[in-house]
Amino acid sequence: MKYTPEKEERKIKDAAARPVSTGQGQSAFDCRMCGHCCEGRGGIVVDDADLARLCAHLALDAAEFERRWAERRGGKLQLRSLERGGCVFFVPGEGCSVHEAKPDICRAWPYFRGNLIDSESFALAKDFCPGISPVQEHADFVREGIAYLQKQGLTGHMGKDRANALRIKDLLPDPEK
Ligand code: SF4
Ligand code: SF4
Repeated sequence: MKYTPEKEERKIKDAAARPVSTGQGQSAFDCRMCGHCCEGRGGIVVDDADLARLCAHLALDAAEFERRWAERRGGKLQLRSLERGGCVFFVPGEGCSVHEAKPDICRAWPYFRGNLIDSESFALAKDFCPGISPVQEHADFVREGIAYLQKQGLTGHMGKDRANALRIKDLLPDPEK
């Protein structure tokens, strides 16, 4: 079947509208606090809203925050990674040291755009993240994910510095567009 953005959007909306049908009523996602998603290198985008929240949390101004904890990559501010890999704010055995103020992209995982629109990305995410139920179907994940992102207020801010993984406005029910 030929891919078109319209078909993909329709598919997502149909999936989002369907009731949960698998997993014996389990949620599609339940974080196991393994820290795996904090162990990568780079990619944690800090947009304007994140920056303001993190600066307030750490009592730093933006310039000082950037100097200590972030770097510019591809035109976007991102958290630094440690030499051994992993986010600069990840503390082994304890987790995220800025949990209350962490970037939206961290709050949104695993409901990234790629995982919502592409079942193969979703399958890879299931392999990567033990918090995603292995018995869940993509449609249920989409439905729960969109509801979660809306409830958490992660669908509104769409500035140019926003992480691409959070750009899902076209997938939302019409009243939110
Ligand atoms: S990889 Fe998944 S289960 Fe592990 S901490 Fe990240 S979100 Fe939670
Ligand atoms: S900010 Fe916190 S949740 Fe986000 S990657 Fe870093 S340690 Fe993990």
